[in-house]
Amino acid sequence: MSELKLFNSLTRQMEIFKPIHEGEAKVYTCGPTVYNYQHIGNMRAYVFADTLGRVLRYKGYKLTHVVNITDVGHLTSDADAGDDKMEKAAAAQGKTAWDIAQYYQADFEADLARLNIRKPAHPKATEYVDAMIDWAKAIEAKHCYQLESGLYFDTSTVPDYGRLARANTDAGESRIDPVPGKRNAVDFAIWRTTPAGETRQMEWDSPWGRGAPGWHLECSVMSAALLGHPFDIHTGGIDHREVHHPCEIAQNQARQNVKGGDCADSGAGIWMHNNFLIDRRGKMSKSSGEFLRLQTLVDRGFHPLAYRLMCLQAHYRSELEFSWEGLQAAFVRLKRIVMGVESLKVRHAELVSASIAPNNPSFEEEEWPLKQVQGDGKSDSVGQTERRVGTMRFEEVLFDDLNTPEALTSVDWVFSLKDETPEAKLAVITKMDSVLGLNLLTLTREDLRIRPATATITEAEIETALAARKEARAAKDFATSDRIRDDLIAKGVEVMDGDPLGWDWKLDV
Ligand code: AMP
Ligand code: ZN
Repeated sequence: MSELKLFNSLTRQMEIFKPIHEGEAKVYTCGPTVYNYQHIGNMRAYVFADTLGRVLRYKGYKLTHVVNITDVGHLTSDADAGDDKMEKAAAAQGKTAWDIAQYYQADFEADLARLNIRKPAHPKATEYVDAMIDWAKAIEAKHCYQLESGLYFDTSTVPDYGRLARANTDAGESRIDPVPGKRNAVDFAIWRTTPAGETRQMEWDSPWGRGAPGWHLECSVMSAALLGHPFDIHTGGIDHREVHHPCEIAQNQARQNVKGGDCADSGAGIWMHNNFLIDRRGKMSKSSGEFLRLQTLVDRGFHPLAYRLMCLQAHYRSELEFSWEGLQAAFVRLKRIVMGVESLKVRHAELVSASIAPNNPSFEEEEWPLKQVQGDGKSDSVGQTERRVGTMRFEEVLFDDLNTPEALTSVDWVFSLKDETPEAKLAVITKMDSVLGLNLLTLTREDLRIRPATATITEAEIETALAARKEARAAKDFATSDRIRDDLIAKGVEVMDGDPLGWDWKLDV
């Protein structure tokens, strides 16, 4: 297998991945702030991190992957201004901040499952507050100063603050400094002391008064606690390259007492950032534009994995523009692949049944993925196909900074091969899907027929009406057949005569 090359945002260069510990890969991904539902832009960040994790596993590394849950401390502005997001949501919904966190974390995890994202460790920030206080105490003397509103990190005490963002640390910075008394505009809160006379739902005692940790601290603390210092790869959305990750790096450098300049000093060997999901109005965000959740897509009749495929169709470092047409195209592509796999399975079963005793029922129960995909069980034809077809080009593009759009074309290519057995093709697709995560071997046509939330007619009613229409057409009773069709249209059912995918009908929204 060729080497894995990844683009390191810190050096702005493509680099060959070399694990810090032989045979192991340790990855940290900034997780969600659980004060609201995640929008599909957020979920793009986790599809990307999942793909990275799957590639590392494909290459044989023992993967430890952490995606933290921010359940405290994130303000409505990155610049230490505004309200605490959790407290604000709790007040608005008349619930406790703890209930809010629990509810939205569960919703986030359900979305991960629907997108077939592996289940990494999900530590919560609130479980690490003591460790955060210890960290702040350790760096306080050399790197921090106290104001009435809390403990602040003096960014001029580390050598290359903002290297990741390539930011000008003073005047040119887009972050406006709203906190009086800060020494540098880009200094940030390590600890936010609760103002006198106020109480927060989530607050802890500290040497700097009762209060809550600053948001950036949790990721330094949790990544070091769970993965060590330094660890291999840190990921997040591209917005984190500007503020959150430079602040993490500054904290790491302070804690490790290093001079900077070296990637390992930053805390991670490689920093990777996915670009945004945008729509015509710009970056998808929780505060502007249409708030599209995964559930919104499902309500409109799309399978969640169509969205995963849509993400994979773009390189993670490119912007991806969301449109319903684009999602529809991805959905059709997914259907095509699933139907291709289904017909390979049928062909394979036919071949197996022709070659075994007719009263042996075992082939009917056979399920993919088959054991021969790995190791000794691999049949000759599978091994040859793998070498000849396919996984070579698939790996070549994938290991070139995760070029998933190109990797996907290898799947199409496998289908187009004329001289390979269905068994061999299925084995290669199984292997590819271990990285793509589209459940290609288990998804069925029925799974992909998602019922839009607004639909009033049942599947059984549609099937009955279509059978009646077929009879009418056979009897050349076109008046009846047209009436049935119009009736179905009125109920939101589009009849798809001659659909090359044989889909017959779909429910419109
Ligand atoms: P947040 O909960 O706001 O911290 O966001 C969770 C993750 O989603 C972070 O890694 C963000 O960088 C990422 N993110 C936010 N908006 C988008 C977007 N429109 N497209 C892709 N990633 C995003
Ligand atoms: Zn983070």
